[in-house]
Amino acid sequence: EGRLEGKVAIVTGGARGMGEADTRRLVAEGARVVVGDVLDEPGAAVAAELGDHAVYTHLDVTDEASWAAAVDLAHERFGPVDVLVNNAGILAQGRIDETEPDTFRRVLDVNLTGVYLGIRAVTADMAAAGHGAIVNISSAAGLVGMQGLSAYSASKWGVRGLTKCAALDLGHLGIRVNSIHPGAIRTPMAAGVTDEAMAHQALPRVGEPSEIAAAVAFLVSDDASDVTGAELAVDGGMVL
Ligand code: NAD
Repeated sequence: EGRLEGKVAIVTGGARGMGEADTRRLVAEGARVVVGDVLDEPGAAVAAELGDHAVYTHLDVTDEASWAAAVDLAHERFGPVDVLVNNAGILAQGRIDETEPDTFRRVLDVNLTGVYLGIRAVTADMAAAGHGAIVNISSAAGLVGMQGLSAYSASKWGVRGLTKCAALDLGHLGIRVNSIHPGAIRTPMAAGVTDEAMAHQALPRVGEPSEIAAAVAFLVSDDASDVTGAELAVDGGMVL
């Protein structure tokens, strides 16, 4: 029997990249997953492949009504939500003085406010059950500053802080909240990054989405029952 047998999860940004890998891993461990994304065709294809164990929904993480609909769908198809993986995110690059205010606001809205709205959307289910596990995907850029990533890094530092506050606020309800800090991972977002470019790292290569999914599965499972407010770097030693 899998570690996540009977658990109901929502994974945001589940249509591709890390979110897709997380979805597959959670299902492999026994969970049923609501896959939320704004990329409807690939998202629906991922869910269809997983049969009865996954369902796709159009979920824009910046939109409260969209979150309510995703939670309703979870109830209808699977039951109350036990697990939330806040994975959806967008990247913007450029020098800070060349970053437009609209870009800055948009990155904060998706990467940080989206995580806050997700936590809000699932808290009632988890509190009623007396347990729940939330994993927020931050970044190595949420641990240090990185050139040309002001909006992105600010959003990911925000996720790291939000994670610790949520862990403090929700722990008495049995809800654990942790952050993962990926380094360079082989997904569409980091399409141009090569192993050679990562030669300076302790592990001189690009990471795989499945390596993030393994960390997600651990943190949402009972193997991590005493872990909350933690920040787990899965970055090949990028930040040491
Ligand atoms: P990706 O671009 O391949 O996938 C991100 C997914 O999020 C996409 O399917 C996209 O459609 C979805 N998404 C974007 N905006 C959304 C919204 N408003 N609502 C719902 N879904 C939305 O990227 P990825 O590399 O798989 O990234 C996953 C997470 O990991 C992101 O939070 C990213 O910032 C973070 N991260 C990535 C890397 C990396 O090297 N790839 C490194 C550190 C952190």
